[in-house]
Amino acid sequence: MRASMASQSSQRNNNRMLFYIETHGCAMNRSDSQIMDSLLRRAGWKRASRPEDANVIILNTCNVKMPTEQRMIHRAKVLSRIAPLVAAGCMAKSQPELLRSYAKALVAPRAITHIVEAAYSALKGTRAEFLNWETPNKAEFNREPTGFIGIVPIAEGCLGSCTYCITKLARGRLTSFPAKSVIRRAKEFLNKGAVEIWLTAEDTGVYGWDKGENLPMLLNKISSLDGDFRVRVGMMTPDSALKIVDSLIDSFKDKKMYKFFHIPVQSGSDKILKLMGRKYTAEQFMRLIYEIREHFDDVTISTDVIVGFPGEEEGDFQDTLKLLEVTKPDVVNLSRFGPRPKTLAANMKQLSPKVIKRRSKEAAAIIEEIKERNNERFLGRKLTVLASEVTSKGVQGRTQCYKPVALGNVTPGVFYRVKIVDFRGNYLIGRLREKEGRRTGIAVRCRTRLSRDLPS
Ligand code: SF4
Repeated sequence: MRASMASQSSQRNNNRMLFYIETHGCAMNRSDSQIMDSLLRRAGWKRASRPEDANVIILNTCNVKMPTEQRMIHRAKVLSRIAPLVAAGCMAKSQPELLRSYAKALVAPRAITHIVEAAYSALKGTRAEFLNWETPNKAEFNREPTGFIGIVPIAEGCLGSCTYCITKLARGRLTSFPAKSVIRRAKEFLNKGAVEIWLTAEDTGVYGWDKGENLPMLLNKISSLDGDFRVRVGMMTPDSALKIVDSLIDSFKDKKMYKFFHIPVQSGSDKILKLMGRKYTAEQFMRLIYEIREHFDDVTISTDVIVGFPGEEEGDFQDTLKLLEVTKPDVVNLSRFGPRPKTLAANMKQLSPKVIKRRSKEAAAIIEEIKERNNERFLGRKLTVLASEVTSKGVQGRTQCYKPVALGNVTPGVFYRVKIVDFRGNYLIGRLREKEGRRTGIAVRCRTRLSRDLPS
């Protein structure tokens, strides 16, 4: 034990510029970590694979909900005992007071270009804070894809002012990144082997509104890039989607677009939506989903729902359940409302935890039923699936409508013809189709990344 500790410390001393990054939260935060990683490497730092080997540890934080905030504090405490800590991410900007006792340096999401200075400060043991509102073009930073996925940030911040949201305090008002940078980044990821491009932002639907552009224009440019790949578009608010719905649907008709829409409704009650500061009605959301479903036979609708928002009466909650029954989303990120500090909703009269818990359980049961019914429709169907992620349980692929399919042990980065033989709540189970002259179960490589699409 003592020998191994000695060898760890001699490893650290031999190379005093080793960093370790731990990332929490959304795709945007993952992308920010990749940018910080690339800036540090360019400055001569090397990445350690374990915190114990690092001279400086970067904790890229998320504080979207209370339990995540508590986890961040715990991680900051633990990691700061191992090596000097730099706290980056949303919490560093919106709740720096909770991290100062553990972190030598703080770096806000919009100040990530200062990560190298922050790491040197932490290494020297001097305090530093980079919490300014800057506008780095995050699509411009060159880096490697994560396996077969290239995450391209297209904008940062939003045009909303939702009364419960702490993210706004960390990411600020909308800054869209130039389309030419986004396209260059997507192209480079594809050249480096990515087969999926994820376009990410706090609200992708408002992309370009600060620059006289819009999301469909961007999507058309990306889907016209050479190669056989798929594009996944991240979350968009219902009000921004409603403003561009016709051209958005046209853009999504391209075969390179995953038919996947993440549109968080949050509540089925107009009274609650108003209190939340959301700029649409439940009926507008339902019409939006109806319109999307009318154009695509297979589509994944993902949404977010908060139960127990201040002022939510039983009738408001029932309206949310009805909205779920009517729109039948495939994915629902269900949250129990918890007040976030420095937001308007934190000062509203809160519901009792008991009521919130009961409503959450009721909503979860309905969501499970809907998911099951939705997945059942796929049983027995033969679909083209792109194997895009290697997980601990094997390779996972995505159908054209972004349904996850467990594929077992196959080569990732490749399209397969698959028969859906079973399903679970969150994914389908696929069996690779038998090829003439070969036994069932042997992978049939239908096409390579550069070959033509298959009819589904
Ligand atoms: S749109 Fe609303 S919920 Fe989304 S990041 Fe902006 S303020 Fe937060």
